[in-house]
Amino acid sequence: MSTLEIKDLHVSVETKEGRKQILKGATLTVHSGETHAIMGPNGSGKSTLAYTLAGHPKYEVDSGQALLDGHDLLKMTPDERAKAGLFLAMQYPVEVPGVSMTNFLRTAKTEVDGKAPAIRQWTKDLNEAMKRLRMDPKFAQRSVNEGFSGGEKKRAEVLQLELLKPKFAILDETDSGLDVDALRIVSEGVNRAKENTGMGVLMVTHYTRILKYIKPDIVHVFADGRFVKTGGPELADTLEETGYDQYLPEGADSE
Ligand code: ADP
Ligand code: MG
Ligand code: MG
Repeated sequence: MSTLEIKDLHVSVETKEGRKQILKGATLTVHSGETHAIMGPNGSGKSTLAYTLAGHPKYEVDSGQALLDGHDLLKMTPDERAKAGLFLAMQYPVEVPGVSMTNFLRTAKTEVDGKAPAIRQWTKDLNEAMKRLRMDPKFAQRSVNEGFSGGEKKRAEVLQLELLKPKFAILDETDSGLDVDALRIVSEGVNRAKENTGMGVLMVTHYTRILKYIKPDIVHVFADGRFVKTGGPELADTLEETGYDQYLPEGADSE
């Protein structure tokens, strides 16, 4: 059983207009096997939270903590965080020209496990995972995300997730831009990873439609840099009807 603890996290970023505070006291605890949905207006800092946990250098932690089983994530390099069991499926996956999917995945697996996977088992696992995600085997030889459609990029993220078997996965709008079939395939991949590894999931989403496929145990509203409300799955339905306006600071407008 693992625990991810985010405690009173304050994060800012340097912008052209000066320093901007984005996270304003975010606090959350996630245990193995739990799925948390994080819903909130555009620009409230959800991706910033995801990037901060993953160790993106742009985001500066002013105060607060992030612990994985008591270990200070914020002191670790991004690859140490991955090795500790944290995985981020990015909202906008980056293209890596010149690096094939197969090499990238094998390198990542070797790094995360601390040893190279046995080649035969690995090839089998990779091929089967791609097949389940309805990915053309040709993708293994293509450069990471280069020229992939939006849906293909999201599948490639879930492929990583299934192969790397993290303790905690942050899925940043993994559902956005997917048609119904792709949404189902991607969700099935996440659910398989949940069942196989017992990982905890933090799922950032704007839409309740993914919650029909990936059932959250807990739903949070995230607004203006912090978690402002927590409830059960029914909270997502309420949000669909009421929107986020009631959670925004006076004068602000959700997009
Ligand atoms: P969300 O994912 O909830 O839509 P983000 O975390 O992407 O929100 O962004 C929160 C706020 O911080 C936005 O106003 C955004 O413009 C700003 N922001 C995020 N990252 C950067 C950055 N690297 N440089 C400047 N501003 C940023
Ligand atoms: Mg956004
Ligand atoms: Mg975002």
